[in-house]
Amino acid sequence: MQSSYPFFVAGRWETSNQPLPVLSPYDGSTVGVTYVANDRQIEDAIESAVAAYPRLRAMPTYVRADLLCEIRTRLRAARDLLAQLITRESGKPITEAYAEVDRCLLTFETAAEEAKRVVGEVLPLDLAPSALCHVGITRRFPIGPILAITPFNFPLNLPAHKVAPALAAGNPVVLKPSSKTPLTWLKVAELCHEAGLPPGALSVLPATSEGADRLVRDDRFKLITFTGSAPVGWQIKARAGRKRVLLELGGNAGVIVDSDADVSFAAERVVAGGYAFAGQVCISVQRTFIHRDVFDDFARDVVRRVRQLKVGDPEDPQTEVGPVIDADAVQRIITWIQEAVTGGATLLTGGRVLGHNLIEPAVLMNVPPASKLYCAEAFAPVVSLFRFDDFDRAIERLNESPYGLQAAVFTRNLEHAFAAFEKIEAGGVIVNDSPSFRIDPMPYGGMKESGLGREGLRYAIQEMTEPKLLVINRR
Ligand code: NAP
Repeated sequence: MQSSYPFFVAGRWETSNQPLPVLSPYDGSTVGVTYVANDRQIEDAIESAVAAYPRLRAMPTYVRADLLCEIRTRLRAARDLLAQLITRESGKPITEAYAEVDRCLLTFETAAEEAKRVVGEVLPLDLAPSALCHVGITRRFPIGPILAITPFNFPLNLPAHKVAPALAAGNPVVLKPSSKTPLTWLKVAELCHEAGLPPGALSVLPATSEGADRLVRDDRFKLITFTGSAPVGWQIKARAGRKRVLLELGGNAGVIVDSDADVSFAAERVVAGGYAFAGQVCISVQRTFIHRDVFDDFARDVVRRVRQLKVGDPEDPQTEVGPVIDADAVQRIITWIQEAVTGGATLLTGGRVLGHNLIEPAVLMNVPPASKLYCAEAFAPVVSLFRFDDFDRAIERLNESPYGLQAAVFTRNLEHAFAAFEKIEAGGVIVNDSPSFRIDPMPYGGMKESGLGREGLRYAIQEMTEPKLLVINRR
């Protein structure tokens, strides 16, 4: 694996006098060193995006689609390398890293297909005597240079959810990846360059928070697409001026297990959705509400499964739960567990610090509603269980959250499934699977603190284009 990673700006590879070492969350070793872009390089990235825009906008659809297919082909050829890089820089277990690469292939494949479906409408305008001979046509046009800012937890596929639809729509992109996991997309930038992306169509540059702020405030960008934590996202919106802003933010996903649910299946899916990537997923299961009739069986099953999870080195293919991102995250999570226990929660299993930034997967019950584990985003291998008597009340409790990204209900009762769909305040309701279920083309995004707008290639392309109206008077 290479050790030095210049960043990609305006079609060139550059370094700066500010190195950014990227450390393995598991063993602290240096995965690689990249560099933080200086003011001049940030300016170059913006200028080159502005310059590339007319060329990308005029590019025939089939050329754009072919380019996205070519990038996908190169990503596929680099599957092993990318999976290893994800694991090394984020601490994600290698099997999940391979799953992320495969998801990214689908993201680019779908973007190439959706590039061909950016359609408009023909509008009858004979709606008043003054408009009898008028016909309207709408067509969607690309919006212009886009700024993408992404978090550490899916270093490959989350930037892909921004870059691929932007290119599909005909927009250049400047990507500022997470400082914790910037290397994966520096590798992808190389693949995009080799695939024939025009200079300036994509720049990938790590930045300080001052540099990021400069990007956010620059009005040459027409849209900011941000994925990350809610406080940072909403602050960015406040500083974005007139730009359009798409926010994909945090969550503390709730699950309801109904009295008639398949308890064993629900337990399996809750554990799969609560502990993948050590819970560092925005739609990770955090709060589970279980009907009184099945609570004991469900809790027993979950605890049994959680105790069997293999915790350890993310490069070991047997590992199911690897480290959290850094020592600060370990400290925060342990403090939150202690706060809940002090407030009256019972720790059913786990919760110990194991070294290497590993936390023993934890299950709690009776977590007090005022505690952070209930109302904030845990982003941790921790699931809390709550008993309920009445299905409507369970929905109310699930909605007692500032967030609303995705939620899940395990039930055989069709009325309850539809009640959940209608009443749960979240961007997606999943029936009989984990709230962490996501297939990349589906519309994805949150309500409340969880964000604004939707991703999923077709939906992101809508956000990244704007309709223009042509009216023809046929008199
Ligand atoms: P974060 O701390 O909010 O950082 C996200 C990105 O914002 C990083 O690139 C970060 O750069 C940048 N940033 C930080 N401060 C900034 C500022 N003042 N101006 C401009 N950019 C700034 O989030 P994280 O810890 O990496 O990721 C975890 C969060 O992401 C969780 O809340 C999770 O729920 C959320 N998330 C949401 C989704 C979704 O689709 N809804 C998906 C995945 C993750 P640096 O790294 O350089 O600080």
